[in-house]
Formats: sequence, C-alpha cells, structure tokens
Amino acid sequence: MRKRLIAGNWKMNGALAQITSLIDGIANGLLQINGVSAADVELLVLPPSIYIPFVHEKIKNTAIGLGAQNLYLGDVGAFTGEVSGSMLKEVGCQFVLVGHSERRTLFFEDSAMVGLKFKAAVLAGLMPILCVGETRLEREGGQTEAIIHEQLNAVLQIAGIAAFEKAVIAYEPVWAIGTGLTATPEEAEAVHAFIRQFIHQNNVDLARTIRILYGGSMKPDNAALLLAMPNIDGGLIGGASLDAGQFLKICEAASVVN
Ligand code: PEP
Repeated sequence: MRKRLIAGNWKMNGALAQITSLIDGIANGLLQINGVSAADVELLVLPPSIYIPFVHEKIKNTAIGLGAQNLYLGDVGAFTGEVSGSMLKEVGCQFVLVGHSERRTLFFEDSAMVGLKFKAAVLAGLMPILCVGETRLEREGGQTEAIIHEQLNAVLQIAGIAAFEKAVIAYEPVWAIGTGLTATPEEAEAVHAFIRQFIHQNNVDLARTIRILYGGSMKPDNAALLLAMPNIDGGLIGGASLDAGQFLKICEAASVVN
C-alpha cells in the first residue's frame, strides 16, 4: 500500500505574517479533525526558501513535513544566488521539487538540468518530487505520452533507476496549473498508469511502491475523485495550499479514500 502524500507548493507567496497564520492554521486544524492521521496521509509544505528555517521551527512536534521548491547542482562554491541540497537538508528539508513547469518555462531548465538536479537532490539525502507534464498544445497534438517519456527518460539516463527509489513523481499537466482547469480523473489516471508502466519497464518492484502525485488545480471539490484513481497517490497543490482550510480538506479527502 502506498501512503498518500499531499504537498503544498507555496511558490513565491507569503510574507512572514501570512506564513505564520497559514502554518498555524494547518497545525491547529490537523489537531481538530479526526479524518487525517499521520498513518494514512503524509503531508508537507514547500515554502519559499528564505522562510524554510522559520517554518521548520514552527512545525516541530507536528506531523507536517518540509520541502524546498528548488535546489542547485553544486554542493558549495561560486554559484551566486543559489542554494544546494546539503544546505536544504541542514535546515530541515526532507523533500525538494525538481522540474516544476514554472522552473522549466520561466527559468529555462531543460530536461538535462532537471536530471542533474534530481541526482543532486538524491545525493544530498533529499527526496526529489520530479514534476512532468505536457502543455495544452502538446496534449491536443497527441504528444502527451511522448513528452512525459522524454522528461522521465532524461532523468533516468542521468540519475539511474536506483535514484527513483528515493523519489516521488508528480504528473502536472501544464495547462491545469494555476488555471482552474483540471484533468478529469480518467485523463489523469491514464497518464499516471503510463508513468507507472515506464517505471515498471525499469524496475518491477519499484513500480509497485513509487508514489505518483497529481498536480494542477486540485481543490477540495475535485480531490476525492482524482485520489480515488488507482494510480494517483496524492496531490501537489499550489493555489489551494495557501488556504489552511482548503489544504486540510484535500488531506482529509486523501485520508478518506485510503
Ligand atoms: C503547482 O504549482 O504545482 C500547482 C499544481 O498549482 P495549482 O494547484 O495552483 O494548479
């Protein structure tokens, strides 16, 4: 049984006051609802890197995990403005996003860069959440599987299949991120099954255990149906993770469908 994972990607949002009330809201809400137990669902937040130590301190003694939104390839050195995996690990991160579509598009990260970051994350002892997904045009052109295959294969070639044992994959159709459009449960499930099949071709046992999250306008009102799909093991949540109540409702939905 794969334990569901709900991850909140806060992106570049939140002044200190907003982050304080958000994390307090999640922590207090978790204590009040019976529906989410740490045994059923793992949840984590991915704050802007500057706030990671602050959030780390606040979530001590809670069931909330911590991750970063990005890392650099090197460990230390002359890389002005960058943060390494070992630094993230030292300040309490367990996870890091790699290959988010905003990084691929706005910061020109190609598949090779994503593969190198994935490898750097694993070497630093972090669990990468590898994001893959097609654009609307690619979907309409029937290229979804080819795009996903290329994105996964680039990472496989650079990091090797063993590195995927310490990783999570997130299917995030680019056209659904922050748009309010969501893949239907069936559309998402088809891609998740394709991703699991890709892993199966390289490691049969790992295909059974690796978690594949869905991301792209997952909200309290669509989470349950998406999470009921056999190959959807959780969610990567953007907008709805900035509202403690919505985020917790999605966590509850993940717990209920277990
Ligand atoms: C994301 O940024 O990974 C994401 C899924 O955002 P949203 O939930 O806002 O679509």
